[in-house]
Amino acid sequence: MICPVCGKKTVRKRDLYHYSESGLENVFLETDIYKCKCGEIIPDIPNIHGLHELVAKDLVRRESPLNGKELKFLRKQMRLKASELAQLLSVHKVTLSRWENGSEKISMGYDKLIRFLYTQMLQEKCNTILKIIDGIRHIRPGAKRIKIVIPKKEIKDAVCHL
Ligand SMILES: [Zn+2]
Repeated sequence: MICPVCGKKTVRKRDLYHYSESGLENVFLETDIYKCKCGEIIPDIPNIHGLHELVAKDLVRRESPLNGKELKFLRKQMRLKASELAQLLSVHKVTLSRWENGSEKISMGYDKLIRFLYTQMLQEKCNTILKIIDGIRHIRPGAKRIKIVIPKKEIKDAVCHL
């Protein structure tokens, strides 16, 4: 691949790519990365819709409480505007905005409800059964926010998206 910045040839490497474009801090992809001597790094991401679905599925099943960025990611995956999600949850849109920008913590009940909502939408639109009860049972306020690492094979194979 030719570098889009300087026009020189890049070198392909299999590596972990920190996928900050997702808006999340801790998502890493196992994928091919094209590196250029000028410093440019271009990841090979074959299936962005499927990838985002994999990340969302991981988020709703983990033990750490949702933070604002994760909530926003799930809302976007559900193709909901902030006002629409606020209405679904019966909270004021200012509250939702505070949750999303991190100035207010999402209470545990809403955290769980949001996970169920995503799961239900996935099921209705994609006929996918996603088991989350066990994960939800183990959510702990202090649980460490562990890395999400998505293997390349899974990125390619993820099919349905909202
Ligand atoms: Zn370059």
